[in-house]
Amino acid sequence: MPEKLSEEMSSTLEAVRRNYEGITETIARAAQQSGRQPEDITFLAATKTVAPEIINYAIGLGLRHIGENKVQELLSKYDAYDLAHSDLQFIGHLQTNKVRQIIDKVSMIQSVDTLRLAQEIDRQAEKIGRIMDILVEVNIGGEANKSGVSPEGLEELLSQMGGFRHIKVRGLMTVPPICDKKAEVCKFFDRMRQLFIDISAKTLDNVSMDFLSMGMSDDFAEAISSGANMVRIGSALFGARIYR
Ligand SMILES: *Cc1c(COP(=O)(O)O)cnc(C)c1O
Repeated sequence: MPEKLSEEMSSTLEAVRRNYEGITETIARAAQQSGRQPEDITFLAATKTVAPEIINYAIGLGLRHIGENKVQELLSKYDAYDLAHSDLQFIGHLQTNKVRQIIDKVSMIQSVDTLRLAQEIDRQAEKIGRIMDILVEVNIGGEANKSGVSPEGLEELLSQMGGFRHIKVRGLMTVPPICDKKAEVCKFFDRMRQLFIDISAKTLDNVSMDFLSMGMSDDFAEAISSGANMVRIGSALFGARIYR
């Protein structure tokens, strides 16, 4: 039995290696086609359901950013990540009462969409004497059951966050609606880019538009063409997720 397992593992790692190379090439091409350099694009791997040994293998290949979207899972895998060679971000919906559990473990929280959550991050960051980078999540498709501030409410939320001293807004993040056609999802990416540009042009206290985080396995090349400079990729790197 153990032999079979390790065979399975080695073919998994082999696939991850091929996928990593393919993704890196696609990112480089998309960057160059939109007048940027490959290193201008941050490749973050979405690691939900993926075992730490597989994540660490990808880090060994050169992956420098990983993101989890559930607090419980992050905590259970935390000691096993190779964080000497990668940073760890939080990319999922975050409940206010769980901020404390991850505040000292992540380098950025990508999914802040209410003043209340920002306030709690600020409070917990102050307690441990650090400034937490955050992205504000935008519900660009206006979907009823999705996290994210509405595009119309974005600027007000950003100005309200200006007073916090222990968070720093570093950009915007979105998960657009699922679309049948690439052209449809591109419409949402383009709207995000416009928001990003509009906000960049304003001088809001405590806000710098460094990251536009959008694009996942099926559409990261399109997202980069539409101006993304951070993509979050899961299944295209690690294979289809197996939920246990
Ligand atoms: C899982 C996840 C991704 C990656 O999804 P894939 O389609 O597997 O690439 C990106 N962003 C967030 C917030 C996620 O939870």
